[in-house]
Amino acid sequence: MRLPLNGTVLITGASSGIGEQLALQLAKTASAMAIVARRTDRLEELKSRLLVLNQKLVVLVQPCDLAVVEDAAKMIDAVEETLGPIDVLINNAGYGDLGLFEFSDWSKLEKMIQLNVVGLSYLTHRVLPSMLERCRGGILNVSSGFGLTFLPGAAAYIGTKHYVTSFTESLRSELVGTGVVVSQVCPGPVATEFEAVAGNPVDMNYNWLLEISADRCARETLAGFSRGRALIMPGWIATLLVLAGAWSPRWVLRLSYRWIGRWLRKKAVT
Ligand code: NAP
Repeated sequence: MRLPLNGTVLITGASSGIGEQLALQLAKTASAMAIVARRTDRLEELKSRLLVLNQKLVVLVQPCDLAVVEDAAKMIDAVEETLGPIDVLINNAGYGDLGLFEFSDWSKLEKMIQLNVVGLSYLTHRVLPSMLERCRGGILNVSSGFGLTFLPGAAAYIGTKHYVTSFTESLRSELVGTGVVVSQVCPGPVATEFEAVAGNPVDMNYNWLLEISADRCARETLAGFSRGRALIMPGWIATLLVLAGAWSPRWVLRLSYRWIGRWLRKKAVT
């Protein structure tokens, strides 16, 4: 099913990285756009760039901490009051946490689960009824290649992305024939602020071969989303690796990841 990426679009995590690029690339087709994140200055700067690309675009800057459901509720109320019902929701805001689970800061983990899992589900739950009433709409969830496989060194983050992947696939099936499309993108490494936020205490450097730009990630994502694809995987090298992980028998992965797990623990404690 083709999905016109026009009308009113809400993008979370638009202040940097993939979300910022998605906003810039949708500027010409959308008629109104709500851009959401915590850093207001970055959103205001993005608004100016969006208006250069499309002077007719109505842009609403909505600073919000999406890890707090009450704040997310107020944000959605404000967007719907100003712009009307949302036609396209892009659940992109999220962050990771790298390192051995026991050394992670609990408050960072708790907020991450709240944002990556609860915030994304809450926004979807809020916009879906009005999309169903109008028999049209699109929801894009930004998961990760880690939503399809696993790896030691980011256990809780990978867990949140498995939620996003399974949630999206199941919801997509519930919505068949309704006119509402739910898709997900599962990128490999993308050059954004992700690693700076996730931290990298044991210096796991796997990005040099696989990393793609946020611009390319957004372009391939929107191409797949507009075609209503269930699963979008930008960047072919990362895609091959993710698929190899996803299709390998669990016992093969467990055997190989034992070595990475031991190596990480050795590095973390020395
Ligand atoms: P990024 O540059 O760090 O962007 C993350 C965005 O999320 C920022 O706009 C940030 O804005 C927003 N955000 C973080 N916490 C928030 C909160 N509590 N409330 C509202 N907004 C919040 O990283 P990115 O790579 O573009 O990440 C976007 C998505 O892609 C994430 O879901 C991530 O898991 C996923 N992903 C990234 C990669 C990668 O390698 N980069 C790979 C696979 C999947 P503020 O700080 O201004 O709030």
